[in-house]
Amino acid sequence: MLVWNRIDMKNFPSHLDVRDDRFLQLVHPVARLSKIAEGFTWTEGPVWIGDHNCLLFSDIPSQRIMRWSHSEGASIFRSGSDFNNGNSRDRQGRLVGCRHGTRDVVRTESNGTLTVLASSYEGKRLNSPNDLVVSSDGAVWFTDPSYGILSNFEGYQAEPEQDACNVFRIDLQTGTCTAVVSDFVQPNGLAFSLDETRLFIAESGASHDPNVPAVIRQFDVDGATLTDRGTFATIDCGIPDGLRIDTMGNLWTSAGDGVHCFASDGTFLGKILVPETVSNLCFGGQDGHTLFITATTSVFQMFVNTLGAEPWTRPTA
Ligand code: MG
Repeated sequence: MLVWNRIDMKNFPSHLDVRDDRFLQLVHPVARLSKIAEGFTWTEGPVWIGDHNCLLFSDIPSQRIMRWSHSEGASIFRSGSDFNNGNSRDRQGRLVGCRHGTRDVVRTESNGTLTVLASSYEGKRLNSPNDLVVSSDGAVWFTDPSYGILSNFEGYQAEPEQDACNVFRIDLQTGTCTAVVSDFVQPNGLAFSLDETRLFIAESGASHDPNVPAVIRQFDVDGATLTDRGTFATIDCGIPDGLRIDTMGNLWTSAGDGVHCFASDGTFLGKILVPETVSNLCFGGQDGHTLFITATTSVFQMFVNTLGAEPWTRPTA
């Protein structure tokens, strides 16, 4: 395959840091990072709503979920969102989100009403659900770090009731919420491999303890059971937060200096350097080739020469 030659090219974009030539197949030298919305407090939880051709994202401290479209720009989708953080969709296309304020995982029904899917474990309140992913069997997997109760910035300060910051799986057939991993310091973003045999989970505990490695861990998935397969990738700047997989199996993760991309074998492919600290990202756009990046007070977009693994991020035929 013909790829751009970074050595011969003049003025190679300064926002790209290429670590492996495979990265050159995933970006385009003319494609720049552009800011599409700004003026927020801490943006998170981007999710592409292809059937409405718009992006939803959270501004956690302002307790709003925002809507952005190419034709209409940014507007308020939901105010009073109870410090909603991560967002995703289930296989029926319903929005599923994590709320710090109410310390729960909530689904927005097609008629707009909200259904709480989990708010406690073993009779005690969750810490502050952060991010989630829905597997093809409909189960909701989410992380429960303590960020939302550490201060009043993005939730309500409180002592944790849980003994650990767990990763949970909600079986919606039975309604049960099960802890599937309990040895994270602060579990954060998560994403499945294309065949769902592997789950990647970010450890962001270095945010408060520099002795915690800034890594993405990988687990084998067998139904509701996870088996630890060690470190998938180490982040060389800042911490990993939200992450997504593309249709080639590459993993794109937030980091302190931008978005880092790793091949499915763990090879570090390159970075998109972003001028604000990145919290999360998602694929989408009208043709599916846009990477949306939530970064502190702003949201950015950039063309990428790949598509998101999640089916609703890709255009339907
Ligand atoms: Mg997060």
